[in-house]
Amino acid sequence: MKKRVYLGLGTNLGNKKGNLENAIKNIQEIEGIELTGISSLYATAPWGKTDQEEFLNQVIEIETDIPPLDLLKKLQEIEIKMGRERKEKWGPRNIDIDILLYGEEVMDFEELKVPHPYMRERLFVLVPLIEIRPELVFPDDGAKIGEVLAKALTIEKMEDIRKI
Ligand code: ADP
Ligand code: MG
Repeated sequence: MKKRVYLGLGTNLGNKKGNLENAIKNIQEIEGIELTGISSLYATAPWGKTDQEEFLNQVIEIETDIPPLDLLKKLQEIEIKMGRERKEKWGPRNIDIDILLYGEEVMDFEELKVPHPYMRERLFVLVPLIEIRPELVFPDDGAKIGEVLAKALTIEKMEDIRKI
């Protein structure tokens, strides 16, 4: 059965807009994936490790019957194909593709945690996500995305993120 899946894309190296376009094109070319939603682009201050280039972030919605770990593997193949080198955690990268939500699944493996463990704190995920799915409810605790965003905004500020 097809599941609705949300992917978070991020880049802060090279031609950032081109990197996002290229990643989405590669994702669409995977057999068994249908692209069903795409957010605007958001320029965001770096998170975690702040002494680096600004990021460009985007969230997409896909429908797929590819199982979660297989999907993760295919997305990592795209990262590698696009030349991503895994150096430091949260360091500069030409493309990062994270699985934010996979249907109603709640998974807690080292290699795949869904809902993505940091997504509730990250405006660069929540703001594009609420743009494409304002009625979204988290499968693990039933929280509404609007409430989660409101909570995140008590710590981070809307000025940290700019719609392009
Ligand atoms: P980050 O996205 O945190 O900056 P990486 O992209 O290098 O860092 O991912 C590190 C590891 O996170 C990967 O090896 C992957 O297996 C694991 N991981 C756990 N949960 C997820 C998820 N929901 N989406 C993508 N990767 C995940
Ligand atoms: Mg990642």
